[in-house]
Amino acid sequence: MLKSIRSKLVIWYLCLFSIVFSGLGLFLHYRLKGIVIGTIDDHLHSEVQFIASLLEEERGKIEFALSDSGVVGDYALPLSGHYYQVISSDGRVIARSPSLSIIDASLPILEGSSEPSYRVITGPDKAPLRMLIQSFRLPQGVVTIQASESLENSYRLIASFRNTILLVFSSIFISSIAGIQIITNLSLRGLNTLSRKVGQITEKNLKKRIEGVKVDRELQPLVEGFNAMLSRLNNAFTIQRRFLSDASHELRTPTSVIKSYCDVTLNKERTQAQYQEVLHRISEAVNRMSDTINKILEVSRLESKEALLRKGEVNINSLLESVYKLMLPVAEGKGVKLFISDEGDVIVIGDIERLTEVFINLVDNAIKYNRDGGEVIISSRKESGFVIITVSDTGIGIPEEDLSRIFDRFYRVDKSRGEVQGAGLGLSIAKAIVDAHKGRMEVKSRIGEGSEFRVLLPLFAG
Ligand code: ADP
Repeated sequence: MLKSIRSKLVIWYLCLFSIVFSGLGLFLHYRLKGIVIGTIDDHLHSEVQFIASLLEEERGKIEFALSDSGVVGDYALPLSGHYYQVISSDGRVIARSPSLSIIDASLPILEGSSEPSYRVITGPDKAPLRMLIQSFRLPQGVVTIQASESLENSYRLIASFRNTILLVFSSIFISSIAGIQIITNLSLRGLNTLSRKVGQITEKNLKKRIEGVKVDRELQPLVEGFNAMLSRLNNAFTIQRRFLSDASHELRTPTSVIKSYCDVTLNKERTQAQYQEVLHRISEAVNRMSDTINKILEVSRLESKEALLRKGEVNINSLLESVYKLMLPVAEGKGVKLFISDEGDVIVIGDIERLTEVFINLVDNAIKYNRDGGEVIISSRKESGFVIITVSDTGIGIPEEDLSRIFDRFYRVDKSRGEVQGAGLGLSIAKAIVDAHKGRMEVKSRIGEGSEFRVLLPLFAG
């Protein structure tokens, strides 16, 4: 039940309302009771003072004094709830109001003191009475005066006030719960529309966005976040789809080569030399296929972080030196001049074999996509916590529109595709390796002038 926003709101409201209104109800109830009883007490006090002053004036003639002046109104009516009695120091009732004497009743005799004391007792008619007891030193001796007034009417007033409060509060309570239901329904309407729209998006229409839905301002970030997530998912799906079709395309060429060699060769009887020749071609195609498959596996492992890097301290300049020595014959074979310049020892934490693979790939590309007599320069420098390794060439360059996709798997710039062999996986593997080292790769290029690839690796802080 508490899983719904509506129930949570109702329960919170219920708790808050109960606490606030019970407190308020109790306060008002006790306040009213205090006022009503206080008024009765004031009245009893003045009655007792009045009786005491009469007794003092009429020195000793108690019966006379009271029968003459005190017997008025409710004190003269039997069982009226208004009573008084005067008790002598030896505990005898020496005078009482006609409301008592007519029916020969008396109030319970309680001990008094010079300070007024208030009690609640049960009267002769079994109704609750408020009674004031006070003793006075008079010329005729110490007397205790007890005066009382019925509490019935006051209790009735308080009870009716309590019932009114309960009625008012429960009506407010019930109508507010209904109000909360309506308000939450209205507030959640936007969310319901939103979840309906979200439910309509599947992997088949990832290009769709949540638009034209009127949602409250609080839900706007959710819509924006969801749309941004859709864009990311759509990109990821597009890359996956492209990867699948590129991979099949890449593997289809050598497969068809093998198939056609087999078909043609099996057509008729061949000489041993012809069989050897065909097997040689097939072996080349298989090698290309297996090279591509290995690269695909490597790039997927690196991207899914499955590939374990054997990390250790790597001296970047000795690594670049060995790449230079390894690639020098290749460059010479292509008529390209290869140079290296470095800034002394620079240490990073990484996998030496994987990092070597990155720079071999970059230098290999720089030689492959160069012109006859061109140059390739490998250099390195330190800058704000990073070592920046640059491989620049004077080659054919990369068109502006291809630069953003150059690191995608199987991406090859069309112009170079026909002339130079390659699967378009080298740079994506290099980037995945650099990413796994918490570094980054950048590229700048101008068509016809050359390209510059930069690898930024975090320096070893130890
Ligand atoms: P490939 O195996 O095709 O070389 P890469 O991933 O290494 O695959 O490179 C992707 C594409 O980027 C290449 O096909 C090429 O068109 C372009 N490229 C890479 N390096 C250079 C470079 N130094 N100069 C010009 N083009 C380059």
